[in-house]
Amino acid sequence: MQGIIKGKTPPTAEQIHKLESYFGQKYGTEVTISWEDDPSIISGFTLEIGSSVYDWSLKGRFSQLKEKLEGLLSVQGQIIPLIREAVTDWTPEVFAEELGTVITVGDGIATVSGLDHAAYGEILVFPSGVRGMVQDLKKDQIGCILFGDEQSIEQGDVVRRTGRMAGVPAGDGFIGRVIDALGSPIDGKGPIKADAYQPIEAAAPGIIDRQPVNTPMETGLIAIDSMFPIGRGQRELIIGDRQTGKTTIALDTMLNQKGKGVICIYVAIGQKASSVAQMVETLRRHDALEYSIIVNASASDPAPLQYIAPYAGCAIGEYFMNKGKDVLIIYDDLSKHAIAYRALSLLLERSPGREAYPGDVFYLHSRLLERAARLSDERGGGSMTALPIVETQAGDVSAYIPTNIISITDGQIFLESDLFFSGQRPAVNVGISVSRVGRDAQTKAMKAATGTIRLDLAQYREMEIFTQFSSDLDDSTKRQLVYGQGLMQLLKQDQNHPLTQYEQVTMLIVALNHITSEIPISQITAFNKELLKYIDTQAPYIRHEIEKTGDLSDENREQILRLARDFLERVKEGSSQLG
Ligand code: ATP
Ligand code: MG
Repeated sequence: MQGIIKGKTPPTAEQIHKLESYFGQKYGTEVTISWEDDPSIISGFTLEIGSSVYDWSLKGRFSQLKEKLEGLLSVQGQIIPLIREAVTDWTPEVFAEELGTVITVGDGIATVSGLDHAAYGEILVFPSGVRGMVQDLKKDQIGCILFGDEQSIEQGDVVRRTGRMAGVPAGDGFIGRVIDALGSPIDGKGPIKADAYQPIEAAAPGIIDRQPVNTPMETGLIAIDSMFPIGRGQRELIIGDRQTGKTTIALDTMLNQKGKGVICIYVAIGQKASSVAQMVETLRRHDALEYSIIVNASASDPAPLQYIAPYAGCAIGEYFMNKGKDVLIIYDDLSKHAIAYRALSLLLERSPGREAYPGDVFYLHSRLLERAARLSDERGGGSMTALPIVETQAGDVSAYIPTNIISITDGQIFLESDLFFSGQRPAVNVGISVSRVGRDAQTKAMKAATGTIRLDLAQYREMEIFTQFSSDLDDSTKRQLVYGQGLMQLLKQDQNHPLTQYEQVTMLIVALNHITSEIPISQITAFNKELLKYIDTQAPYIRHEIEKTGDLSDENREQILRLARDFLERVKEGSSQLG
């Protein structure tokens, strides 16, 4: 075995002999050590042997100190006491640092040889300061995805291990901010004070650490809250073709969390920078930015950043969840995430599998979504609700990525182009959307109000198909059709106008008792709006009670029906106008 000592002054023969016998014993073979002149090493020397580099040089000590200081500087605001601590704690030690060499670089990926002990997910540092993450381990080389400018890296560059797993900074300071996938602010509002460094890959909470999902995460959309309720800690997929209102549902859900103590995280993956900017503006206008965090890896960002963005968002969400907070996280969207991962995998020379996606793309998404949870009271009772978004092509849910994510989540809200273009917005397909756990999370008032709506809508859809060919319908069929159309009208909702629980409950009771069947379809929305105002003036306590207790007493229910019939009479007589 060969070893090389580099330094300014040559070691004595006796020193070389001592080192040879020491390493001979360590490696169990004969070791010969030679000396090489290296003026860049100011004092001391380095010894390269096998894949290890033993660094006794001043330069090595400096880089060790620099590394430590760099770690501290990322925790801003606490620099002075932390530096003092670090300096008193720091004893310059002789250490073996593993160095590698860049073999190739390009397309956001570097292959490196020599780092025998580097771990999957570890951060590597290149001479220009660019960081990368180990993503592929082969027998004698590793693949590393780059988080910075690859132009600054050249073949033959020396790569250092950091021993740290990839992570993002987190803290209260991130709320209200727009950041990139590495946690750096990109909204021009200055640096963010971090309180912690969260690993982007973390094990999902185990069964013991969880408790059942039983608290609602209200979307404010009557089409979802009434039939496909989502609970805190649940994973509900929003799926549909392009331009069917997927993002709008997520955005409305964020707007609806105002005053509910939920921290919202929106992760944009491969979106246009302008749509994200528009989204941020909408949040700001509705005072929703103050409880939201936007993680943006836009379409123009390199694939490695798009790939880690959802993990970064999730890690920040975990920080709050572990503190007992309720978090809502939106991944918009995982189809683009899968495409970014496919690009990386192909560049790392992994062979493609079904539909040209790498075989582990299922595991990739499942380990992300498994991290959504409602924690047990012992663990603080926090929760993270995940709303992943997936784009389909021509409504095909049997493609690889949609089927994967459907099977990982606890249900899906299916959006349909036909409904969307016919004006039924949000374009929720009631027939094939499901929420597998959310029903437990509905409030008593909501459960009581929704009654048979799903069944009624199913009957309506069937009847609608069969009656479109016949011209003369009997009265009862006509009534059924009008009632069904009224229900469909009830589910229509303008974007950025989430409804409160009380409003939804009232409108559902009124519609399901056929009161709105008595007015023209086109006037239902206006009728409901005016009716809510009317009830608020006549019996304001109903709103108060439902919002406070989440329950609907029989008297209140009767009172709502009585007031609605009164109001209907007034409208018919013309003494109340619909706007
Ligand atoms: P993409 O596939 O491009 O991501 P998407 O499925 O996320 O699209 P959105 O961007 O949410 O769809 O919505 C598409 C368009 O439809 C937007 O212009 C949005 O303003 C409009 N839209 C969505 N929901 C509604 C609604 N309930 N009422 C009126 N317009 C809506
Ligand atoms: Mg969208």
